[in-house]
Amino acid sequence: MKRTRAVSVLWTLALLVVATVALVGITTFMMRIHRSDGWVASEPSASPSAPPAVLPGGGRTVPRTAPPSSSTDANADDTRATAPEARPLTTATAVATLRARALTLPVQGIEPGALVPSFSEARGSRVHEALDIMAPTGTPVVAVDDGRVARLFRSDAGGLTVYQFDPSQRVAYYYAHLLDYAAGLAEGQAVMRGQVIGYVGSTGNARPDAPHLHFAIFVLGPERRWWDGTPIDPYAVLK
Ligand SMILES: [Zn+2]
Repeated sequence: MKRTRAVSVLWTLALLVVATVALVGITTFMMRIHRSDGWVASEPSASPSAPPAVLPGGGRTVPRTAPPSSSTDANADDTRATAPEARPLTTATAVATLRARALTLPVQGIEPGALVPSFSEARGSRVHEALDIMAPTGTPVVAVDDGRVARLFRSDAGGLTVYQFDPSQRVAYYYAHLLDYAAGLAEGQAVMRGQVIGYVGSTGNARPDAPHLHFAIFVLGPERRWWDGTPIDPYAVLK
């Protein structure tokens, strides 16, 4: 009798152990399935939810740390025939690379000789890091390069803005203070150089009596975040 009881207790214990192991196994398996299906809500989102801070002058904040400068000659990036778009772009090579593309001026009817550099000018407590192109309200603003509309964004300082990526998605072009967008312009849309994307205005913190396009160029990081990059002087590229 005692022996039978002892055996049944052992059996119960064994069953309990088996049940526990099975439960842990099933739970772990289910958690894996959830993760692989993206059901876990705490995964970081790839799309930015935080709007970029905008400079008082209509520009953006950008990291002050410059990327490591290239040891190769600045012109090498343009002249080499083998897939130049595949190589990383640094601020040192970006100006030469973009100059070689002979970008279209972003404001219709404005000649390179009319441009006035303002990249290093102070705007409040910050540096401008962009190019202001004065033009009457309503003057068409055109894409300087082929590429894609990365973001249409309204900010306090920049007003109505367009962020465009170049075809290689290594460079972003930023157009600010727009009066309006071109009809039908949408995020993700492919644009061609010279295509009208908006109109000169004074939205944001631009003076109403001094309508202009605030135009910036920045080199994107590997994450290709539309609000984040290292600015280069558009005047040096367009003049
Ligand atoms: Zn500006």
